[in-house]
Amino acid sequence: MLASPLVSAVLPDRPPFVIRARLVSPLAVGGALDLRDGRLEVDAEGRIAAVGPWPAVGDGAAVVGGSVVSAAGSTVPVIDLRPFAVLPGLIDLHAHLPQLPNAGLGFGLPLLEWLERYVFPLEREFDADAADRLAPAAFRAFAAAGTTTAMLYGALWEPSTDRAFAAAEAHGIRAVIGKVMMDRLSYDEDPRTQAATLELSLRQSAELCQRWHRRDGGRLLYAFTPRFAVSCSADMLRESAALADAAGAHWQTHVSEDAGEIAEVERLFPEARDYLDVYDRAGALGPRTVLAHAIHLSDREVGRLAESGARVAHCPESNLFLSSGTMPLARYLEAGIPVGLGSDVAGGPDPSIFRAMRVGAYVQNARRVAGLDTAPILGPLDWLRLGTLDGARALGLGESIGSLEVGKEADLIAVDVAATAPLGEGAGGPVGSSGPELDDPADLLSRLIFRSHPAMVRGAWVRGRRLAGPPAAPDSPVQPVS
Ligand SMILES: [Zn+2]
Repeated sequence: MLASPLVSAVLPDRPPFVIRARLVSPLAVGGALDLRDGRLEVDAEGRIAAVGPWPAVGDGAAVVGGSVVSAAGSTVPVIDLRPFAVLPGLIDLHAHLPQLPNAGLGFGLPLLEWLERYVFPLEREFDADAADRLAPAAFRAFAAAGTTTAMLYGALWEPSTDRAFAAAEAHGIRAVIGKVMMDRLSYDEDPRTQAATLELSLRQSAELCQRWHRRDGGRLLYAFTPRFAVSCSADMLRESAALADAAGAHWQTHVSEDAGEIAEVERLFPEARDYLDVYDRAGALGPRTVLAHAIHLSDREVGRLAESGARVAHCPESNLFLSSGTMPLARYLEAGIPVGLGSDVAGGPDPSIFRAMRVGAYVQNARRVAGLDTAPILGPLDWLRLGTLDGARALGLGESIGSLEVGKEADLIAVDVAATAPLGEGAGGPVGSSGPELDDPADLLSRLIFRSHPAMVRGAWVRGRRLAGPPAAPDSPVQPVS
């Protein structure tokens, strides 16, 4: 059994509350916070009001029964989550909402063939009814994986994107979503002209942006989402970038993922210097732009990407699931390119960002052994930073989420480290956050990354509000784990 099933009865549903737990987080100034017995206070607005060691008797705030006197002088409930560890919520910079039912299918195919065989038929069916049925389950699946912020592509259809936003609003997850835009190589079977498709796509995207961008105090954001250069005319790329700029919204697309895709872009845009230049000519590169993959860039493209301020969503599990390649992460970080992590479901087979960290770490190891990267490999706490604070910074949200620091919004997860124990609880050796070998926070993260258990995330919160999905939530009873 997982440890402490009774905790499900006391996980806080909404702020204010004070959590007692092990706290591990990257810090904005660099380095990591690690409090073995920590105290994290969330105020009534869902912001982190205090972070520190749990006070000893007679030292600071007194615990009276199940409550404590807060920094603001009011009485708030104390939730003892030991032996769980509390981390910042994970940030998935790249996934495809309509594709979750396909996760795990199509291994090893080249991108363009995989799209035609597996993805376009599925997305074509993603209408408003499908979104009503699937989007709530998808958001629960993200939260169960520890993701509290997801940047998502919808399908081509405005109504289903609208319903996906409504589902995100109701669920409580933080989300950046966009209607996919395509005015060629599309699964839209309507016989209208390309010009009419362009006009319709721009209008519908602008309407969705107006309706949803910055909804609920900025918890929901809009991203103009031209699929990739193969599916978009130069006009569509340029006009969508202009609309995003005018609205202060994000702009997301794919770049340089697969050899066949790159060859097709060269054919379609003979005037462009390279793949990145197609987006550069559209005026689309800047700090609100998130480019997925970017794994086969030339030296010129790496330099220009760094200079432009555009962000990269690194999706290592997808890059190996499809036969795409490996990304020179160390080189990008050295060049100063802001990078976060993406699951790219269903190009990646799993929504877990812990899994993305694991595969990303293996890829970097393999590249180093093969002599492709000479920089030192990243450690487990570096991977946590990529999946939390760096992801937040990539979205321009580094001041408000991504770490357990005072003043930030309380986007948190509670993780049952015992679920990762190699021999199970009671079989000897370190089984949880109290185990001697897990004193070092890097060891604790190493367990979470390399022995991720699908049920180890026991609670997820956005602004201190608990999300449905993790197995301790009332709608999803705790399952025994053998
Ligand atoms: Zn993708």
